[in-house]
Order: sequence, then structure tokens, then C-alpha cells
Amino acid sequence: MPLHTDTFDLGGLRLSAGEGRRLESNVGIDRFELGGESYAVEPEVVPVALDISRTTGAGYALRLSFQATLNGPCMRCLSPAAPSFSVVAREVSQPGEGEELQSPYVRDGVLDLRGWARDALALTVPAQVLCRADCAGLCPVCGVDLNLGGDDHAHEREPDPRWAKLAELHFE
Ligand SMILES: [Zn+2]
Ligand SMILES: [Zn+2]
Repeated sequence: MPLHTDTFDLGGLRLSAGEGRRLESNVGIDRFELGGESYAVEPEVVPVALDISRTTGAGYALRLSFQATLNGPCMRCLSPAAPSFSVVAREVSQPGEGEELQSPYVRDGVLDLRGWARDALALTVPAQVLCRADCAGLCPVCGVDLNLGGDDHAHEREPDPRWAKLAELHFE
């Protein structure tokens, strides 16, 4: 077992049509840029399970599954967040069978495992990375972390200048 695998030679398995195999491998996934923040992927080398089924001709049906954690700032409160994700992705590569059956990760029987794993994780990660689902975020007025302050954090509201004008009219 190599330390980690970036590409995998599907043809090297010499599977015949209808035959399948499950492989355990390890993939390095580059850090993510999301919403202007940088997120490291942990573990540094992610253990993955790869199910490979040979279809007809030079075709393959592939299933990739792994768990990974992102490490970086919560997008609401900026404290450290480390949400974990279960990633499951499928690809079909059936050369000569039309656009939609051509996996972008398979070329000449070689699978771009690193590129696929990274894209599959990107599709699983939500638009907002949070320290927890109900993160209260920062107070928009004073910037205090509302997760620490309890529910009664409040400010005197700035009087609306239009109301002041109205009050003047009223008391004339
Ligand atoms: Zn948060
Ligand atoms: Zn405040």
C-alpha cells in the first residue's frame, strides 16, 4: 500500500465485465478557499474506500466514500470550527457511450483519485462553514460573540431621525 495515491490505474486491476473490487486507499486533499477563508482538510492523508465495477467494454462504475474534517474559522463567529463530513460520490466511465457517461476523472483507464476526492468534498461542504449548526454569530453592533453572552444581549436602539421629526410636528 503506497503512502497515498493521487491517480489509480483501473486497467491494472484486469477486471472482467461484471467483476468488482473494493479498495482502501489514501488521498491527500488540498486546503479549501471558501468565502475568503482558508480551510485545511484533515486528516492530511484521507483514507478512502473505492468500489470499482467493470461494466462492458472499457467501462467502469465507481463509488468513492470517505470522511474528512475541515479546519478553519466559523463563518459567523470566527472561532475555530472543525465540521466533519461523510462524502459519497459516484462516477461512470463508459468510453464511446455519449457525453454524460464520460467521467471527467477517468482518462485512458486512469482515475484521478485526488481530483475526484477534492471535488466530491467541495460538493458536500455547505456554503457556510459553522462551528455548530445554531451558531449565534457576532453582534452586528458591538462585535461580541453572542455564543458566549446568553440570549439577553441587546443595545439601546438608535432613535430613528424620522420619528424625531414626527414628534416635533406632533407637539407644535
Ligand atoms: Zn460560530
Ligand atoms: Zn452587541
